[in-house]
Amino acid sequence: MPFDLPAMARRARNVRRKTITIRDIIPPQMLARDLARTAYAPIVAVWEDATPRIMDAYALSLAQMTTDSPADVQREIEAAEGEASRLYLLLDARLRDWTLRVERWFRGKWRGAILSATGVDLGTLIGPEGVRASLETHLAWNADLVRDVSAQTRQRISAAVFDGLRARTPAREVAAKIREATGLARDRSTRIASDQLTKLTSSLADERRREAGIDLWKWRHSGKRHPREDHRARDGNLYADRPGGGGETVDGQRVLDPPEDRPARLPYCGCRSQSVIRFD
Ligand SMILES: [Zn+2]
Repeated sequence: MPFDLPAMARRARNVRRKTITIRDIIPPQMLARDLARTAYAPIVAVWEDATPRIMDAYALSLAQMTTDSPADVQREIEAAEGEASRLYLLLDARLRDWTLRVERWFRGKWRGAILSATGVDLGTLIGPEGVRASLETHLAWNADLVRDVSAQTRQRISAAVFDGLRARTPAREVAAKIREATGLARDRSTRIASDQLTKLTSSLADERRREAGIDLWKWRHSGKRHPREDHRARDGNLYADRPGGGGETVDGQRVLDPPEDRPARLPYCGCRSQSVIRFD
């Protein structure tokens, strides 16, 4: 249920300032690590565990070069894929737990930040229902990415073994390529988990702001090592979400219209939006 936080804040305290900036909420990387560990790593492990069996079949095929031998390699790859598929139900449940946990974490931080900035306690006013659609979207997105990590790994492994059989590549070279494939999957999982955490918390920030009737926010640059220069340049800029909100001046600072690539929208963008309450 939407509510008018600026009005509530004014009632709670005798606000003289034109704006109150809400504390920046930075998601801890521990949450990203948990996502990678509980929902993505098991898929990579399936392919790592299958590697010796795939390699045994490969070595045999190479030695025999009989017409039916590639079928053994194929069978091992399909067995691993089947194992991955059987995991999806469990991983989807873990994704749900993780998503709800992040929502709870964010809501707690939001409540605390609003309380200390305005004296208003949102405790009974906000719940997970208010952000349900956002949670479902991110849940589906993650479920899709988990499957994609598996599919991409399978594709790389298949390419390595079938190309290897064609070219009669020594087994250890093919094994190295498979290790590279699973290593890439592990790295990608880590990056995805960090990106998904930023994306989910950024959506939650947008929704909580909308719900509270706050339309102003400040760009907070991620401070990542290889930043997008235009994003770094936006650090501290003030943006308004209301149509035609840009152009006005609030507290001596010019308000801008949000760019198309809002915080956390582009791949691996770690920028955030920091809420600003205005009193007019
Ligand atoms: Zn950025």
